[in-house]
Amino acid sequence: MLLTHAAERALLHKTTAALGVVVCLWLCALSSGCHHDVAVPELTCDMRGVSGDALVVPANAQWVDSGMDVQSGESVTLVAHGRIRHLIPQTEQEIEKSEAGPAGTFFYDDSQGHQEFPLPAAGSGPAPCYCLIGRIGEGRPFFVGDGMSIAAESTGRLYLGVNDFDVSDNTGEFYVEVSKPDTVQPVSFRQDVRRDAPEGLPAAGCSVVVFYVDGLRPDVLEEMSAMHHVPHLTEHFIDGGTHMRNTFTAFPSDTITSNGTMWTGCFSDRHGIKGQIRFSRQRLESESGLDPMGPSRTSRLLRPHGTDKLIHNAQAATVGYFEGNEAEIRWKSSKRTGIPAVYDYLRVEGNDWATGVLPIMTDAPPSMWTRSLARHLPYFQAHQAWQYIDDANAHFAVRHLLNREQPLTVIWLPETDSVSHKYCRGQFGTTRKTIAMADVLVGDVTEELRAQGRLQNTYLVLVSDHGHLGGRKTHLTRYDLVHELFFREREVTADGRWVGGGLGLSVRQHRLENWHTGDTKDKMVYVDGNSDGAARIFLPRGNYQSGDWNGPNRPADLLAYQIAPHLPAVDLPQYIVSSRAVNHAGEEQNPVDLALMKLDDRSILITTADRGQAIIDRRQRKKGGWEYRYTVVDNVRPGANGAAEFDVVENPKTDPLKLLQEVWPQYFTYYHDEEKWLQLTAPTEYPDGVVTLTRHMLWQDHLKVREQEYAPDLVVTARHGWFFGTQNTPGTTHGYPLADAVRATWYLSGPNIRRGARIHEPARLADLTPTILTMASVNTRPEWFEGTVRRTVFATAAAEPSADDTPVHWRDVDLQAWDKLDYAPVPEFDRQPITVNRPGSPWDVNNIAYNALTVGDWSVFRLVDDALAPGKDKKKPVTETVDSIERRGRRSRHKWVAEGTHALNVSEVSLSDYSLTSSGNMYRANGVVDWLQNRGTRLDEKISDKVGRNTVLGAPKVNRAVDGVQDGYWDVYKYVQRLMVEVLDETVLNGLENNVDRAINASRKTPPEILVQ
Ligand SMILES: [Zn+2]
Repeated sequence: MLLTHAAERALLHKTTAALGVVVCLWLCALSSGCHHDVAVPELTCDMRGVSGDALVVPANAQWVDSGMDVQSGESVTLVAHGRIRHLIPQTEQEIEKSEAGPAGTFFYDDSQGHQEFPLPAAGSGPAPCYCLIGRIGEGRPFFVGDGMSIAAESTGRLYLGVNDFDVSDNTGEFYVEVSKPDTVQPVSFRQDVRRDAPEGLPAAGCSVVVFYVDGLRPDVLEEMSAMHHVPHLTEHFIDGGTHMRNTFTAFPSDTITSNGTMWTGCFSDRHGIKGQIRFSRQRLESESGLDPMGPSRTSRLLRPHGTDKLIHNAQAATVGYFEGNEAEIRWKSSKRTGIPAVYDYLRVEGNDWATGVLPIMTDAPPSMWTRSLARHLPYFQAHQAWQYIDDANAHFAVRHLLNREQPLTVIWLPETDSVSHKYCRGQFGTTRKTIAMADVLVGDVTEELRAQGRLQNTYLVLVSDHGHLGGRKTHLTRYDLVHELFFREREVTADGRWVGGGLGLSVRQHRLENWHTGDTKDKMVYVDGNSDGAARIFLPRGNYQSGDWNGPNRPADLLAYQIAPHLPAVDLPQYIVSSRAVNHAGEEQNPVDLALMKLDDRSILITTADRGQAIIDRRQRKKGGWEYRYTVVDNVRPGANGAAEFDVVENPKTDPLKLLQEVWPQYFTYYHDEEKWLQLTAPTEYPDGVVTLTRHMLWQDHLKVREQEYAPDLVVTARHGWFFGTQNTPGTTHGYPLADAVRATWYLSGPNIRRGARIHEPARLADLTPTILTMASVNTRPEWFEGTVRRTVFATAAAEPSADDTPVHWRDVDLQAWDKLDYAPVPEFDRQPITVNRPGSPWDVNNIAYNALTVGDWSVFRLVDDALAPGKDKKKPVTETVDSIERRGRRSRHKWVAEGTHALNVSEVSLSDYSLTSSGNMYRANGVVDWLQNRGTRLDEKISDKVGRNTVLGAPKVNRAVDGVQDGYWDVYKYVQRLMVEVLDETVLNGLENNVDRAINASRKTPPEILVQ
């Protein structure tokens, strides 16, 4: 460490100053605890532009006759102003919440979630609460908001009203101007970028900030933007950037697989991250990518770093020493796939990415992140942590990530996805509140960038990892594939004929199992696919009784699978797709859509119940990359040597992926490259399906060792309107290869990027990493990735054929999801295993442990706030004061103040900091060392400049040595921390729960067959 006199003096000065700040904050804290009585201010609204003859819509009238008749098809434009109060505020906090403009609000109180609004809102529909709505005659209500231009749906009198379930306690009014223009007026204009648009270049010296909103549907975002409910996303992305309208994720459309693709720029047959759960045939154990330790495990699967890398290499060397070189290589390729992620490319250049919690992380969790979570999470509510991660990640970014000035910052906002899964209608219901909140958080981060003077040198990216299916026109019906199809007892007659029931097999899922009498632990089927649109199925090799788990089955085995010696063999793909179930509307359907099976190293088979079968085969192109052929087949049967035989259908009338509806049958004769297939399939029900289904089922050569251990035998997908799971949900889900699930959000904005533009050319999430690296001025080579850099997003000086701006009308973005949907859950399977693992309960052992661990992270300032004014939604004067002082420090013009404020990190003083060696104090010590190094370097530069030398004090050399010690220390610290959590959480607590489960369920085993008449 370099300690000059100047630096020493500065440190002393700084420490005194910091103590001063702390004392001052405490004084502020003590003086700010006084209360005010609720004095409700008058409603005010901006009346500029409101003409005298505007129609008045009082907030306490359900419907107001506009006095105007409209003809069906006639254009009507409504412009609204004014402000209403939809309840009488009881507390100061309720004053702001009680007001709404004509656009309404998604920030309703949770207690109103289940109310019936005239136009379905809150927990049951897509409309904002308390917005202006309209109706023609006795027709159904429609959304008006603060401006709307539509063609009337019917002929009759126009009525206007407020979207409120109870208007009696309302005050205020809306002022509405109604006109009948010649044509319907647009909500905005977009520049449609032509297919042959010239490719531009990014500006140099910029960094990239990615907002990754998990599961966000781009069509929902566009609709909410047109309704004026996502102002920041509209400013930065929809109006201010370029929308890649046809961006698709790979298959399955789940978070973990998609993250593999997003951050490596490759498909899963190369990066090897194949699903949310990894089931090992060797160990008969599964690991989840969604568990607390999942993100670090997923990143280590690509490549171990730091201490992990040292240990990985040492273990490999030991294997090599005892078993030889080949065994060492096999061992290594069984543990990691070796594919670099976006941070590896940055690290080569001496940089890194800066992230909070993400589905793939090298630090898990990043130092100090738990404090950002503890700041928002109510005390002892670890089981609700998922509801606070958006706030924690955004806060962590403002507090700890942006100041690192790394080329890439990623902010994951996962709540849009988790709320969609759990709550009514997903993004056509409850989730809209979450999206509106995410918009506020995006605003906080961009505001910080602006205040630091960096916004104009920053590329902003908005991306989602997949979409969500369901909720728009219908609820999804659950199909319990695991129990109804695999576990349910076989129905056998007295003379031994198998006439119905299920397959009668014992089943395992991640942390759940259900056994039949007589089955030992290697006689079972493993299914990964709970609450999902896709499921991956693992079976014993050869036949169910074999107990052989040394590798996946051969096609012939699965086409004639022996489940018991006394029963006929089963054609599993056909059996599974033929299963029937009744949906919530009472219709019997085939809940399984596609069954996928690998045929050999270059081809796969797709089986459907109603559209026959097809084979996709691929081969390597001479100039690199792959090309694929899609062939409709029938009569698929077991052949010689475990292979499958089939007949090609000459003039197919139908095909599993419904491509014949869009594509000439002649196309099926030839191989086409991946770009061509993407173009052909983008408008179909299975966008990019030919490529992504094949990529999922096949494994490239470097993953052969892993394939033996981790490849499923069959992968099945749920039909539109269905999902696989054991528990009901009124929410929505993904995983399917269907358009609503695979269409991802992708917008870009920043220097040189087209504004208000749309690119219709299909793209893939595999394009994200190469495009980000290009924007961050990192040199890349095309062969490193399977995605490509999307250069048409950059405007060029070249003369471009002028594209007239395309008007966007409300009907183009209106998703027509306004009807109320009834939810009727289907009965659950009656003999589900009992489990003590209840992640949603505060009494689950893991949650008790997390709660105990978070006590140390509780903020001292928040404790004071809560002591002064206990309860929900109360103001936090101390926390806010500390934050604002610190924010001022961080944004100071003087770099030494900004960096010093950051190093001391006063706002995050927590209970554990009463120990000198807490992680918070370690972090501070680390920050102060950095701060001193920077001061020393500055001084060195100043002196050196004067004497005309590079260095006088030797700062560069000393800094390198100090950095080395700091990095090594942090790496080991984090390694030990992670190991401790792994041992506690996964080995001790999960092991305890699993053993209890086994003991409870042991006496509940049932025989696999029952006798019927
Ligand atoms: Zn996701």
